[in-house]
Amino acid sequence: TDSLLQKSEKLALVGQMAAGIAHEIRNPLTSIKGFIQLFRSNTKQKEYYDLVLNELERINIILGEFLVLAKPSVVVFKEIDVKKLIKDVVTLINSQLMLNNVQIKVEMDEHIPSISCEETQMKQVFINILKNSIEAMPNGGIIEIKVQEKKKGKLSICIIDQGTGIPSDRISTLGEPFYTTKEKGTGLGLMTCIRIIESHNGTFHISSELNKGTTVEITIPTITQPYIPIMIQLGDTSK
Ligand code: ADP
Ligand code: MG
Repeated sequence: TDSLLQKSEKLALVGQMAAGIAHEIRNPLTSIKGFIQLFRSNTKQKEYYDLVLNELERINIILGEFLVLAKPSVVVFKEIDVKKLIKDVVTLINSQLMLNNVQIKVEMDEHIPSISCEETQMKQVFINILKNSIEAMPNGGIIEIKVQEKKKGKLSICIIDQGTGIPSDRISTLGEPFYTTKEKGTGLGLMTCIRIIESHNGTFHISSELNKGTTVEITIPTITQPYIPIMIQLGDTSK
């Protein structure tokens, strides 16, 4: 099997290629979609056109995920309050939570230091992870998000679900492009998460127990205050 480094180099390469190819395919795709919509309005066989349109939409979704892998033209790292970031993400996916009867419980230390991150990318990470958790709980349940500064300078964020879990022999496959067990999955969500977290000098770890649930732990460096040493003189050294 690949070493971690080989894996991450491969991912970097795939990311660059993905970005280029996705951009190139998007333009003709948009024009094909336009024509199909036009033809559809002049026919009785609308269901065939709908089928084609659905497939085009699926290609579009896959390309969308690939484009996230691309470095955006402007990467802006900002000081971000994790509490607010999580709140924003939960609002974004609120309709999916309600539709699937899933509740989110957030547990945070009193004082959580800020992190420096690309806001859109970091939101994408949480969305991908939470979506996987929702999809793993077909009968609903609770997702716990725990935020702690476990070690000085490192913020740990755990996302814990009560879903189907992942077989232990599959854990090492996670994050490989196109690995999916879902009929409509892309197998690109976790890979995107890992790429983004690595570019933030963080770590990404998944543990899981079949039929119990899955825990994703992310760590991200915090913004630390400059350390100012204090000198204390012991005793009188002047004599
Ligand atoms: P996708 O969601 O499109 O399948 P991902 O990269 O997001 O692609 O996930 C890859 C696979 O990892 C999923 O198909 C699923 O089998 C497994 N997986 C990821 N997260 C979870 C989770 N929280 N619970 C159970 N299985 C998971
Ligand atoms: Mg996914």
